[in-house]
Amino acid sequence: MTDPDHTPDSPSQTCRTCERPITTDTPTFPFCSERCRLVDMGKWFDGEYRISREIKDSDLDTVD
Ligand SMILES: [Zn+2]
Repeated sequence: MTDPDHTPDSPSQTCRTCERPITTDTPTFPFCSERCRLVDMGKWFDGEYRISREIKDSDLDTVD
């Protein structure tokens, strides 16, 4: 009595953004929806994506 669609010992997955239970065949895995995926990307940009150094005059004025 094996049902390939129901594996009781498969690890439970949750959306990384809202932590709702999801399955690995979710198109937007590891997120429950495209919305949650974009929210997670927004977190990344807020926290990680920054200008690595200050803009100096020499960057703006390259002509002699
Ligand atoms: Zn979600």
